[in-house]
Amino acid sequence: MTTKSKFYEKGLRFTCQGSGKCCATRDKYAYVYASFNDRKRIAVLLGMSEQAFRARFTKKSDGRYHLHDGGRDCPFFREQRCTVYAARPRQCRTWPFWPENMEANVWEKEVLSYCPGAGTGRLYKAEEIEEILKRGGEVT
Ligand code: SF4
Repeated sequence: MTTKSKFYEKGLRFTCQGSGKCCATRDKYAYVYASFNDRKRIAVLLGMSEQAFRARFTKKSDGRYHLHDGGRDCPFFREQRCTVYAARPRQCRTWPFWPENMEANVWEKEVLSYCPGAGTGRLYKAEEIEEILKRGGEVT
């Protein structure tokens, strides 16, 4: 399928409103995954080793590490803000441009109704969205 035939061919708008909604567990978006690079980056920010970070803040489910701290969705979401924003995981950097969101009905019914930043602010061109989907990049 080419970019031209996709529902976001004219781009999509997104600017984070700081709601923290994407930081909360919901339905299938159950975990904030933390790859080795993610863990390392946050560990450096917190002044600890990756190993110590992994033991303190993550859990492994189905072979993948995800952030975990008792009952909280994310241990770093405090007082309505991300306390590790500069080093946040790739998953957080790329919201809302996740592969599973790139279906018109999902975008319309789930993302737009859930996230106050979706559909507003900065216009991401289709090419930029494709790049984020492919390489991760950063949603600013
Ligand atoms: S790391 Fe930050 S942006 Fe990611 S889920 Fe936690 S609080 Fe939200």
